[in-house]
Amino acid sequence: MSAFDMRQMEESALSAWEHAFESDPSDKEKFYLTVAYPYPSGAMHVGHGRTYIVPDVIARFWRMRGREVLYPMAFHVTGAPVVGISKRIAKKDPKAISLYRDLYKVPEDVLAQFVEPLAIVQHFSQEYQRVMRECGLSIDWRRRFTTVDPTYSKFIEWQWKHLHEKDHVLKGAHPVRYCPQCENPVGDHDLLEGDKAEIIKFVLIMFRYGDAFIPTATLRPETIYGVTNLWVNPDVTYVKAMVDGTPWVVSIEAAEKLGLQDHSVEVVEKIPGSTLVNKCVSHPLCGEVPILPASFVDPDMASGMVMSVPAHAPFDYIALRDLHEKGEYTHITPVPLIKVPGYGTVPAKDAVERAGIRNQQDTRMDALTQEVYSAEFSHGKLFEQYGGEPVRQARDTVGELMIERYDSKVMYEFDSSPVICRCGGRVYVKILHDQWFLQYSDPEWKAQVAAHLGDMELVPPEVRAEFERTIDWLKDWACTRKVGLGTRLPWDPAWLIEPLSDSTIYMAYYTIAHRIREFDPQTLTPEVFDYIFLGKESPGLPDRERFDTLRSEFLFWYPYDFRFSAKDLISNHLTFQLFHHVAIFPRECLPRGMVVFGMGLLNGAKMSSSKGNVFLLEDAVQEFGADTVRMFLIGSAEPWQDFDWRNELVSSTRKQIERFFTTVSESMAQGNRESELDRWLLSRLQAHIGRTTESLERFQTRQALQEAFFAIEYDLKWYRRRLRDTISGGNALRDLCSVWVRLLAPVIPFTCEQLWNDLGGEGLVSFAPWPTQDENSIAPDLELAEELLLRTVEDIESIKKIIQMETASITIYVAPDWKRKIFRLVAGSEDRNLAIKEVMKDQELKSRGKETADTTRACVTLVHRLPPQLVERILAGAPDEIAIFKGAQKFLEDEFGVPVMIALAEESGHAKAASALPFKPAIVME
Ligand SMILES: [Zn+2]
Repeated sequence: MSAFDMRQMEESALSAWEHAFESDPSDKEKFYLTVAYPYPSGAMHVGHGRTYIVPDVIARFWRMRGREVLYPMAFHVTGAPVVGISKRIAKKDPKAISLYRDLYKVPEDVLAQFVEPLAIVQHFSQEYQRVMRECGLSIDWRRRFTTVDPTYSKFIEWQWKHLHEKDHVLKGAHPVRYCPQCENPVGDHDLLEGDKAEIIKFVLIMFRYGDAFIPTATLRPETIYGVTNLWVNPDVTYVKAMVDGTPWVVSIEAAEKLGLQDHSVEVVEKIPGSTLVNKCVSHPLCGEVPILPASFVDPDMASGMVMSVPAHAPFDYIALRDLHEKGEYTHITPVPLIKVPGYGTVPAKDAVERAGIRNQQDTRMDALTQEVYSAEFSHGKLFEQYGGEPVRQARDTVGELMIERYDSKVMYEFDSSPVICRCGGRVYVKILHDQWFLQYSDPEWKAQVAAHLGDMELVPPEVRAEFERTIDWLKDWACTRKVGLGTRLPWDPAWLIEPLSDSTIYMAYYTIAHRIREFDPQTLTPEVFDYIFLGKESPGLPDRERFDTLRSEFLFWYPYDFRFSAKDLISNHLTFQLFHHVAIFPRECLPRGMVVFGMGLLNGAKMSSSKGNVFLLEDAVQEFGADTVRMFLIGSAEPWQDFDWRNELVSSTRKQIERFFTTVSESMAQGNRESELDRWLLSRLQAHIGRTTESLERFQTRQALQEAFFAIEYDLKWYRRRLRDTISGGNALRDLCSVWVRLLAPVIPFTCEQLWNDLGGEGLVSFAPWPTQDENSIAPDLELAEELLLRTVEDIESIKKIIQMETASITIYVAPDWKRKIFRLVAGSEDRNLAIKEVMKDQELKSRGKETADTTRACVTLVHRLPPQLVERILAGAPDEIAIFKGAQKFLEDEFGVPVMIALAEESGHAKAASALPFKPAIVME
């Protein structure tokens, strides 16, 4: 028996595992799981820990179930973020220095090398690997690669050649998120803030103002007919700028944005907003309208000037009403133009008044705007004098008319702000020319992906709708960059493939990663990969036999069984990889399933490296031990739920593991006695084995831990209590411990390796056979008897608490048979509230009158309270309560230190005895 020494257990397990998880094709059934590979630009925190530990628990489980399991890992180093980081470090940016030196604890000499981007990812990928090992992840490290390895680049070139040939990559001009500081389009991964911001296409309505235009941006050009005024912010400075040779008045911000959207912009003069107030503008479709002051106008939203349609836009309506209440502009009234069912002539007014909105600051205003907008869009119709079209159509026809005839232009803008690049700079919408786009908008491609999604297993099932939405909504994706690390586009090498586009089918590359390294990258032509992944032979590959092992390795492992990733990647990575798989691989090699994770919180707040709200994984492992970290992360939530890391809760997990260690260690010294209680313990264990197994098969890692740890511990507590006279248990305890150690091995593998060794188990517990249920050990009557006893003991304890006095004796009154009959009728009745009718059909019971009615009511309550499975077991087992209590009389007397009598309720004259029910005896304490 060893002492509980986490550090020592970790060391010895890690050396035993050194090459243990290297998997090769075999005659076993395979289980291949992958996790999104990390972008190693900083240290891992406990949130990352869970991302890799949950799949590890699943991998370890299936390995013990006898599968050939592959859990590989690589590092994603493509892209510009590290370029930005290294620039900031070179500039000695204090925030970047403090993040890397103080939070991530990078030594000064290593930090000095970070002026070179590759040095950052090299350092952190080593660190990641080291910490992942320390966490006990059962990874096949032979397959590790980074996305800038020359052989990987060859693989990506092959993938892109196919995408290009199938017309999935086309050149065009599209609006993209763009960082002027980095001179690069930015993907979700490049953003510090605003990754949810969408690019919205606005129509600029051009109002004539003297010799200039004042553009206002709108999503609803058809409402031009109802414009009563423009809004300008009097506290903002506007500019007059020559836009493509024509003077426009816009905010300073807007002038800058227009310059990125295919306009030549030259600022001529500054114009204070206040000087525009009360001036007039005109538009052929609404005539002359005044400019009114409004502080809500955001100069950083589109053109910085807003047109007002108070009849249909709640914000405009409220703003006008506020002015009216001050007695200003009372001659301006809403001009309605849309008829919509459920609203009066002025829908905005109705909506505002119904909701009881007092002023512009009301937080419900956005929702209200959305409500009116949706109602009008779905069911609204323009008035006859404006063409009578449904709003749905009019929006497009009027929009086109505006652009053709009335000088309107398109302007792109984010739907929320701020959007900030990892370099710290502001991100804008820019129209990129000569950019390459993945045509995710292609309906045919979408349809293929949607069809395959239908065949996939998704965990939890609720994410299916989100995947469907994403497939439907995905637009073309700017897939190349000018700056950063990565693979060049094979047919246009001025461009680099961006990170979310070179990480879509690398799960296939893992299968050969350790073998392809033996080849000279220069010889890895597309024909080589065509053969390995598609089985295509070609004259360009005369000696294909050299790649036969790689081909068979791929065929053994592919498709992958499950991919694990966080839910924020559904809208990009997880869906992208489906598009690419469908485009490249044959049907039989398409992914089988995905498990989508919740997010991590630290002390209740979102974990975020850039905000410093993280707890480093390595610190956690050092402080609490790897098994503690693993068990806490698994126990705190199911994988798809959000979890919250709290140091004070983690320490108690460590104590639980220590308790487990002590129990198992002590069991080794147990005797050979075998009692009914031992049989009970082993019977209960069978159900725990079954439920732990089912939970893990369903990825319910938390539920599995509840069964495998807490439920068994609960049984042991009762077992020990019942064995109060004998200090040691029987050999059942040893049998149980051998099972227990294996059930917990996926979650706390370090501790379990040690205990398995101490128990004399064969080989590593990581490869020990997973426990299976032994039907012969199941003893339902024994379980029922102990359940009755346990519940009765709990009842006695709670009565003792209530009466708060010394008792001289306890009498347990057992219910008579006619009450059992009622219990049976109530439990078997479809509607328990109508059970009384059933009961009264029985003449003997009916003759008991009120007694029967009272008992039926009490049984209804009791049956409701008991767990349904227990009710079923009571019905099936018909336990002999008198015999059970008599058998445990000595235990009960020892337990409560007073004489305990057992009697039939009907033979007693005691008033309380009449309340005895089946499985709930009456208890009298005197
Ligand atoms: Zn930037």
